[in-house]
Amino acid sequence: MVVLYIIGAGSSRNYDKCVSPVPDLKPPINRDFFKMAKKIIDYYDMSHMYGPVDNLDHLMGELNRLYGHGQSQSDTTVLDDDRLNLEAVMTHFYLKSGILDADLPQALRASSLRTQTLNELLAYTLAESLMGPVCTKHIVLSERMEKGDVVWNFNYDLLMDNALYATKKLTDSGYVIRVDYTFVNGNWEKTRDDPSDVTLLKLHGSLNWLKCANCGLMLLLRNMKSVPALWTVIRDLPMETIQCPKCSSVKRVGLQRIIVPPSLVKSYGELQIRYLWKYAYSLTDIDRLVVIGFRFSEQDPELEMLLRTMVQKGHIAADVPIHIVNPRPKVVEKRFHSIFYRSEITNEPPGSFFRE
Ligand SMILES: [Zn+2]
Repeated sequence: MVVLYIIGAGSSRNYDKCVSPVPDLKPPINRDFFKMAKKIIDYYDMSHMYGPVDNLDHLMGELNRLYGHGQSQSDTTVLDDDRLNLEAVMTHFYLKSGILDADLPQALRASSLRTQTLNELLAYTLAESLMGPVCTKHIVLSERMEKGDVVWNFNYDLLMDNALYATKKLTDSGYVIRVDYTFVNGNWEKTRDDPSDVTLLKLHGSLNWLKCANCGLMLLLRNMKSVPALWTVIRDLPMETIQCPKCSSVKRVGLQRIIVPPSLVKSYGELQIRYLWKYAYSLTDIDRLVVIGFRFSEQDPELEMLLRTMVQKGHIAADVPIHIVNPRPKVVEKRFHSIFYRSEITNEPPGSFFRE
């Protein structure tokens, strides 16, 4: 009996063990991403030239002008504007870079710098808002999983990873992608290829995956003495600690995060990410789907493409039983029914599913 778990942003939203000092911070979802980022930027006074997120002052200036809030590069009021959501703003800069700025010399292409700044702000905001011990709800979920089960995770965060790791159901091989070195308690170690009970496919990448653009090594940040310490390293990628073990490249010059930005215009240029999607597609003999905290975003049609193709090819039955864990399951249920038209679909609120 193989269960395929599909996990979306809603499953990280209820994390309640965050140790960040930033007041009223919650793990962001699309519509309140900038409101959460604002709390962090204001608390750490980040919107200036020497802040931890490169060119954040320029991004603030452009957002202020775009949404009619003036010219300031440090005033963060615009981030509370309800018109902003992460996917829309990310898509704006990707489109601008691909259309209006496409013929400019690289040095003048501000919009591509904006997408880099936004991606770094996304990593920073997620790491800050999820900094804390292993999530007990994800431990409950992890304990339900059995050998052979597969997770499709669309989140960049490590809540599922850390819970599976803590319950000894995930090894580094469980990510499927090639990893050369793993960062363990302050040192790089050759990644070990131990079999993993559960396969965790992070189809949009992960905050703890890095690629060295200089020498091509794939790196994994895994173990620190505590989970909060791991989050701090992932948030800051400190240059004195995180260097490529082969060529000593650091953040900004070589080391890059592997995340597929939440935008209508996505780039699947990263070989490892495409491999993950092909691996997901090749799965067969799935007996049940469990869908947790996932919604089909208007700007996220890939999952529907993947599932529909799998049904078409007979990799997954059109009547596979589906269980949806969501406080408002109706819309998600309808979308799943449009793909799996003969399935029996049940649902359950998160409170009962995650009961500890
Ligand atoms: Zn390198």
